[in-house]
Amino acid sequence: MDFSYPREADDYRQKVRAFLAANLPKDWKGIGALSRDDAFEFTNKWRNTLRDNGFLAVNWPKEYGGQGLTSMEAVVIAEEFARVGVPVGGHNDGFGIGMLGNTLLAVGTEEQKKHYLPRVLSGEDLWCQGYSEPNAGSDLGNLGCRAVLDGDEWVINGQKIWTTAGHLANHIFVLARTAPDEVKHRGITFLLVDMQQPGVEVRPIRMMSGESEFCEVFFTDARCPKGNVVGEVHGGWMVAMTLLGNERGAGAAVNAIAFRAELDKLNRLAKERGLSDDPQIRQRLVKAHTKVEVMRFLGYRALTAFMNGKKPGPDASIGKLFWSEYHKEVTELAVDVLGADALTPSGTPAQTYIRPDAVGSPNSSASWVDVFMNARAGTIYAGSSQVQRGIVGEQILGLPKEPRADAGPWKSIPGHA
Ligand SMILES: Cc1cc2nc3c(=O)[nH]c(=O)nc-3n(C[C@H](O)[C@H](O)[C@H](O)COP(=O)(O)OP(=O)(O)OC[C@H]3O[C@@H](n4cnc5c(N)ncnc54)[C@H](O)[C@@H]3O)c2cc1C
Repeated sequence: MDFSYPREADDYRQKVRAFLAANLPKDWKGIGALSRDDAFEFTNKWRNTLRDNGFLAVNWPKEYGGQGLTSMEAVVIAEEFARVGVPVGGHNDGFGIGMLGNTLLAVGTEEQKKHYLPRVLSGEDLWCQGYSEPNAGSDLGNLGCRAVLDGDEWVINGQKIWTTAGHLANHIFVLARTAPDEVKHRGITFLLVDMQQPGVEVRPIRMMSGESEFCEVFFTDARCPKGNVVGEVHGGWMVAMTLLGNERGAGAAVNAIAFRAELDKLNRLAKERGLSDDPQIRQRLVKAHTKVEVMRFLGYRALTAFMNGKKPGPDASIGKLFWSEYHKEVTELAVDVLGADALTPSGTPAQTYIRPDAVGSPNSSASWVDVFMNARAGTIYAGSSQVQRGIVGEQILGLPKEPRADAGPWKSIPGHA
């Protein structure tokens, strides 16, 4: 099997490297070397540089403001950016470009694509994801937020929870129940909702770290136009799964680069602390190395599928399950290497949490402890590890379906619409 890239990819790689060399400071060490505030500012400016130089939404067709690049070119960009430690987009682009934009390209109407995609690119529309509810997480099909058609508008009532960056967004894509008497997965509609209206209330959730990364979002007679349905009315489940495929598959082709850089850093930490000859630590470092190699090959598989125009499907669950469980293990190893110092973390805190800390970040105990604490979230968002195993078992291996408490009609809960 030949894992080398075609010649065009190598040629394109040179162009990307030239762009990076021309646009990054000479002494650039990766965004992780900046303070959190500086990194935030840098990302905002960098996004403009990307947009002005044709490096934003690279896989979108030109008619919608994208760059119309091939899948191979998109992956080369992601790889080169990951190597030098610069983001491929701005703070909201995971939602706007990665989730909503790619979903609109797949199943949106022409009018929706023309209206929303340029606004995502200009930064005017900032999106968040309105899926989870107090009674609908893993069992997402049980969601109870209701939408009822009133003339030319949908009227929305209900609640969402764990809405990442909800307090920073001005638009939300909402899964709402529109046919309460249907089998539950069939009565859901995917709506595009402007959050800047009196019927939408956003309450940030304060986490034990003191920060507020997620929110609760309450809808009280909130409205959106009748035409803001993506896909079919009552057919939102298919749209929701298309979007989740994009979310779970995100980064698959380049995951190994960031995880390799993180493991190299841990290796250095083990050496600095005189633990690289500890038999237990060595064994776990070697195990981690083999897992990052597996991730590299999973990445090649994702890349091949991507280049053949295959949309992310149930196999996106394998990659998501693999990296998130690995990340829990490797950050536990880091805490064991730190020993008692992990109880009194010091030095520069982490910039990014759920995945490896940003390239260039210092090898501080504070950074490792931040990433250790947040690695668990990776096994929950976009579907927990148990849910991913269910998908792999049933949809890839064709194993018999597990008995499900979540089948059948939608069950409202007391006090819920
Ligand atoms: C960092 C982060 C960001 C998030 N951002 C968003 C966001 O922006 N928008 C949004 O809508 N949601 C978001 N979520 C919510 C996320 O999608 C849910 O937390 C997730 O789907 C799990 O749902 P739950 O928390 O209700 O747990 P539950 O569904 O109550 O699960 C509890 C436990 O039971 C297990 N379990 C449940 N069902 C099964 C089953 N059938 N088989 C085996 N085990 C099962 C689960 O694996 C889990 O361990 C985010 C979550 C995190 C951690």
